Amino acid sequence: MESYHKACREVVMVAQAMYEQGLVVGTWGNVSTCLPGREEVVITPSGMDYTKLTPEDMVVIDMEGRKIHGKWKPSVEVPLHLAVYRARLDVWGVVHVHSIAASAFAVARMAIPAALEETAQLIGGEIEVAEYQPPGTRRLARAAVEALGQKNAVLLANHGLVGVGADVDRALKACLVAEKTAQVTIYARMLGQVNFLSPEEVRVLAEGFKHYGQVKGDGNARK
Ligand SMILES: [Zn+2]
Repeated sequence: MESYHKACREVVMVAQAMYEQGLVVGTWGNVSTCLPGREEVVITPSGMDYTKLTPEDMVVIDMEGRKIHGKWKPSVEVPLHLAVYRARLDVWGVVHVHSIAASAFAVARMAIPAALEETAQLIGGEIEVAEYQPPGTRRLARAAVEALGQKNAVLLANHGLVGVGADVDRALKACLVAEKTAQVTIYARMLGQVNFLSPEEVRVLAEGFKHYGQVKGDGNARK
């Protein structure tokens, strides 16, 4: 029960941070975290004002997308969140946003290149574009998981961006780094000269980052 309340608080905090950072407008975007045991997911409700969101507004669903708890309808992107948790046992948080520069790449259907060290470290390389599929569908979920692979962010064609991570904070950070990389790449192209990191440089940075900071990574365990 404690983990459930903690998860609801975390999802609200990240949803509000996502809104305050300008990664979404209105009630678009959605946030979820997987509960220990990986049988239930806490997700934001559909179409609600982020500034008024409380932990009691969160919706709990099972891995088939059936509502277990909560007074509201869950986000329409439930299939997307569940597909990521099924495909990636290292992922415990998913954040989906419609930020401007990443959306520009999604409209151009161009991958966001590995332009910055943090793109390599936190995301694991360039951010690819999933083929276009309508929002809220299983087809979109499948396309997103395929283009995501083992990285921590993916673009949805003509739609937006998804960030994933070992917790919901890291999923938000993946969105922020992807959005920043998209902005920097557009500026660099305006300057006329762009140099991206090579696959080998990306590999070394991503590997080195696993041992960075105070917290030791522990694979599939929830922190
Ligand atoms: Zn969306």
